Amino acid sequence: MKQYRGLPASGGTALAAAVVARMAQGGPHPETLEEAAEQCRAQVRALHDKALAEVGAESAEIFSAYEALLSDPYLLEPIRELHGQGVPLSQAVEQSLEQQAAVFLRAKSPYLRERAEDLRSIKQMLLRRLGGSALELTMPRGDGPVIVAAESLSPADTMALDKKRLAGFVTRTGGTTSHVVILAKNLGIPAVTGLAELEEIPDGAPLLLDGDTGLVTVEPDETVLAWAEERRREQEAFEAALRELPPEETLTRDGRRVHVSVNVGGAQDLEGLELAALDGVGLYRTEFLFVERARAPGVREQEEEYAKVFDALEGKELVVRTLDIGGDKEVPYLALPKEDNPFLGCRGIRLCLRREELMREQFEALMRASRGRDFSVMFPMVNTVKEFLHARCVWEEIRDGLSAQGISVSGNIKLGVMVETPAAMICADALAGHVDFASIGTNDLTQYILAADRGNPDTGVEQSVYAPAVVRAVCHIIRTFAAGGVKVSVCGEAGSDPRFLPLMLGMGLRHVSVSRSMVDRVRYATAHTNCAEAERLLERVLGMEDEADIRRALGADGREG
Ligand code: PEP
Ligand code: MG
Repeated sequence: MKQYRGLPASGGTALAAAVVARMAQGGPHPETLEEAAEQCRAQVRALHDKALAEVGAESAEIFSAYEALLSDPYLLEPIRELHGQGVPLSQAVEQSLEQQAAVFLRAKSPYLRERAEDLRSIKQMLLRRLGGSALELTMPRGDGPVIVAAESLSPADTMALDKKRLAGFVTRTGGTTSHVVILAKNLGIPAVTGLAELEEIPDGAPLLLDGDTGLVTVEPDETVLAWAEERRREQEAFEAALRELPPEETLTRDGRRVHVSVNVGGAQDLEGLELAALDGVGLYRTEFLFVERARAPGVREQEEEYAKVFDALEGKELVVRTLDIGGDKEVPYLALPKEDNPFLGCRGIRLCLRREELMREQFEALMRASRGRDFSVMFPMVNTVKEFLHARCVWEEIRDGLSAQGISVSGNIKLGVMVETPAAMICADALAGHVDFASIGTNDLTQYILAADRGNPDTGVEQSVYAPAVVRAVCHIIRTFAAGGVKVSVCGEAGSDPRFLPLMLGMGLRHVSVSRSMVDRVRYATAHTNCAEAERLLERVLGMEDEADIRRALGADGREG
């Protein structure tokens, strides 16, 4: 038995035979850049459809972005120029795309740094086409599960694998937030990246992959196998307990109703989702419709997209978040000025109030798409009552305009705010006097309370909701809105942390919205929480000064499973 440690990239464990992927050279290949680019475009179009059918919208988006890049003259022109100067085509692709990727790699914004990864994936696809090479792996006979071990895997490679047999993967390169990792998470399989000793894995050897710790065990011995077996049994018990949960609602152990909703980026994220136990959608991130495209979507296009979400929900609740873009997300057609601190810059409601046409078009599209149905709208990054009132005023103007044209708009649309800045937290009592509801964006709230960029792993400050300041902030918000009789929910990642959720239930939280892969865990954690006990635990935690003590009190210090 041998054990190696890589980076934990996608959680869970898998025990299966290793399949080592290698590059095979010398197949038929195109002669020109245009031909290679066209073949790559056809490949990513097919992968987009496959990802949409097999994994979901978030993964499919990756391939739409690749198609847009492969059609972008600014990407291909420099390659042509270099080749025109006598540089061999493959070398020109390598040089030019590396140069372009290097520009993105220097960016402060994590979003832009991810573009470097896209460019490298495209470089790899073009080079493979031009060299006639392909990733080759020999699957063992039968239909048993396999763990793929590869130097690197692009999203295209991963999509092409047989999902039914893929139990996990391990690579030498790739970070923990790359697109291929997102894909693994969406597929619900473990992944370990950054494994320096990749060549120590023999083809066909039994492999135990622990995506939670990054531990890779080659030919595990009896003790490790027994541990893996125990984990498997725990997992089975968890799944059995889920089947026992009441199918139509979620109750705490002491019988309090907790409303669970799902976060989506579009109608595709609702495909195949069992809605019975859910209130509906608690956060619809509408910005995916606006990024990575050449022009803003018009009212008609937006209306069509929003209508798909309304239809998919079959009357269940829908909370739409209006456009949350800004300096850190590249939206070329908006020509946003470069900012040194995009997370402290003109984003969310600030941008929409400045560029009112964006907001007006989105409001109109939402109202048209609703066809008289009820729904809720919330504004991101709100700091002040004034911002909320301004947005509400625009909303009412558009609504009255449409009603005057005979377009049916419900008179019962709720307007609320995301609470994700310290300003909104401190003025929660004032906001509670005006809004219909509030939803806590714990992801942004954490970075702003701690004054540490959520995309920068090197600030020296961990993005942790367990930090005493964040715990107190979240508690203050929940209690203030609840005291004002205003519905308050959590739609940031903290809502799906099974150790943190009970604490928030103790604060009085009764509405939570999480990504679809976390719905079951959240329902399970809720069903195992006693609110009276959680309230007592909260009082102890609020007296703690050190994050380590809070983590220990909540069993989130890594010592329990
Ligand atoms: C949040 O900030 O917690 C949130 C839900 O919004 P986003 O992650 O999209 O910024
Ligand atoms: Mg946010």
